[in-house]
Parts: sequence; structure tokens; C-alpha cells
Amino acid sequence: MLPLPRFDFADPTDLAELVRLAGEPGARLVSGGTDLLPSMKHRLFAPTRLVSTMRVPELRQVEPLPEGGLSLGAAVTLREVAAMPVVQRDYPALAKAARTVATPTIQAMGTIGGNVMLDTRCRYYNQPAGWRVALGGCLKCEGPVCHVAPKGKGCYAAHSADTVPVMMLLDVSVVFATAHGERHVPIRELYGVDGRTWLQVPGGSVLVRLEVPPPGAPIAYRKLRARGAIDYPQLLTAVQHIHDTWRCVVSAVGPAPLRLEATSPPELVEAAMAEVQPLTTHLASPAWRKKLVRVELARAMAELGIG
Ligand SMILES: Cc1cc2nc3c(=O)[nH]c(=O)nc-3n(C[C@H](O)[C@H](O)[C@H](O)COP(=O)(O)OP(=O)(O)OC[C@H]3O[C@@H](n4cnc5c(N)ncnc54)[C@H](O)[C@@H]3O)c2cc1C
Ligand code: SF4
Repeated sequence: MLPLPRFDFADPTDLAELVRLAGEPGARLVSGGTDLLPSMKHRLFAPTRLVSTMRVPELRQVEPLPEGGLSLGAAVTLREVAAMPVVQRDYPALAKAARTVATPTIQAMGTIGGNVMLDTRCRYYNQPAGWRVALGGCLKCEGPVCHVAPKGKGCYAAHSADTVPVMMLLDVSVVFATAHGERHVPIRELYGVDGRTWLQVPGGSVLVRLEVPPPGAPIAYRKLRARGAIDYPQLLTAVQHIHDTWRCVVSAVGPAPLRLEATSPPELVEAAMAEVQPLTTHLASPAWRKKLVRVELARAMAELGIG
């Protein structure tokens, strides 16, 4: 069993204190810890203090928004999200996505906020320290070269958060608390194109809640993975049809989920096939994952009764 490095632990009950502690040098926020703690065991991060979000009431709150829709606290667990009658009724694709994360036990600990802030993943990065160091590290951690694209200067580690494609189609807004007040960011603008700097907010930003607009057109969500549980995605697709527009998000193929729109289902599929370029970030072959983009989009459209 891999040991954790030593660290202090803070468990604030007040939002202002949480923001203050998160901004201190060496601090790192932890919610369920289901991604962060394994990464610390792999020595990907060595924070000197973990600051828990779980006892701050604002992050555990769920309430209707005044203009319609739902406010979901960042520290609400995936199991709670999936079990909420309002989510099952108004946002069934979000409930389905929450239920596809890892396993039921991990869903009971992991939070929706931790999922939004999840690190990007790569077969050369998510490995124990000895394995990585034997390979000389890589651009995302400890090394001078990317093993996926050795001539490139970027990192292509894949966005792998199961709930995000659905939340992008729902046009969710994520709300951060800072020392100077709140900052609202549309979730579709939260992610960037480099796997090292995939979050477009400063480190230590405290995600407080997700604002989900009133329900709209149905969304079909599909996750491709090696086994029916535990595994991170090899490919994520979410599709929605609103009036004359077909929208989709394709994820697990690069640092940012790809959001595309078209005026017909065939155009949407061709746009995705032109844009999506899976790389060797996963054990499964990129060519196979690329072929599956067309297949998974067709299956998602069939679920919506399109095509
Ligand atoms: C075996 C296994 C399989 C998994 N499979 C999947 C999978 O299939 N799909 C998937 O999406 N995930 C998967 N995960 C990852 C993880 O369980 C989920 O992504 C979960 O939602 C993470 O939430 P958490 O609360 O545990 O996050 P944590 O581990 O606590 O934190 C994750 C990251 O978010 C940051 N963070 C946490 N809360 C906040 C906040 N409020 N504000 C700002 N930053 C914050 C942390 O600093 C850290 O960088 C898996 C994990 C394991 C161990
Ligand atoms: S894509 Fe390249 S730089 Fe990024 S984690 Fe993988 S090997 Fe490292």
C-alpha cells in the first residue's frame, strides 16, 4: 500500500475562513479526497496542509434559484446529487452522469465540486512516483518531454470528469468565492487547452456552488469505459436537440471538453469527427477511440429519437 505524505489538516466551518486558508502557501482544498489522496500517494502533489470544504454550510446547500433552476453546493456528494428527486425529475442526465463515476462507494465520498475541479489524466502521469521517475517524468510532472507528443510543447492529458459534459449542455455557471467577493464563470469557459493549466481560474480558488438553469431540452449522456464500474472514461458524449440546433459535448479526448453545434445530426457528427483527435493518453488506441466518437454520438442521438 502506498503511504500518504505528511500534511496538516484544517476543517473550517466558515466560508471566509475557508477562502483565507485556501490562499495560504502550501495549502490545497480537499472535499471527498477520492482523487486528491490517490494523487498524493503517487507524489503528484505534496501539499503541507489540506483544507476541507465539507463543514462549510454554503458548500453543502441545495436550493432553488430565484429565477428558476437549482443551486447545488460544491461539497454535495455525487450520491446525493444522483438521489435528489429534483435532479432525477428535471436533470435526469446529470443524475445518470453522477451514477457513472467510479463506484457507489466513491460516489458516496466524491463531490460534484471535486468532479468539476478534477485533474486531467494521462497514462504517463497517473502512475506511482517510481514508475514516472523511471521514465524520466513528463511535462506535466518532473520531466522535459511529453511521451504522448514528444515533439510538442503542450500537455494533452485528458479531461475525465463524468458530470461536466452534461453540465456544459445545461449551461451551468460555477461560482467561486474569493477574498474580494464572488466570481461567476460559465462552465463552458472553465477549461483550457493545456493539460497542465486546464482550469482557467487561479490555484486555490474555492468553488462554492453550481448554478443550474431551469431544465430545457432532454440530454442523452453516454460514457465509454473498459468495465462497467470503477474505470475513468475513455470517451464521454452528451447530445441535445434544441429547436433547429443540435449540440454535443465530447470529452476524455483532450484537456478541455469539446462543445460543438450544428444544424443537422450528420453535420454535428462530421464536425465532431473533424475536431476530435484522441491521442495515446489512454491504453485504448486513439484510432479506436476516434471511430467510437461516431458510434457513441449515433447511439446518443438514437436515445433522443434523432437520426
Ligand atoms: C478508483 C477511482 C475511479 C474513479 N473514476 C472516476 C470516473 O470514472 N469519473 C470521474 O469523473 N471521476 C472518477 N474518479 C475521481 C473522483 O472520484 C471524482 O472525480 C470525484 O467527483 C472527485 O471529487 P472529490 O470530492 O473526491 O474531489 P477531491 O479528491 O477532494 O478533489 C479533487 C480536486 O478538486 C479540488 N477541489 C475539491 N473541492 C474543491 C472546491 N470546493 N473548490 C475548489 N477546488 C476543489 C481539490 O483540490 C483537487 O484538486 C475516480 C476515483 C477513483 C479513486
Ligand atoms: S500528455 Fe504528455 S505531458 Fe501531459 S501528462 Fe501525458 S505524457 Fe505528460
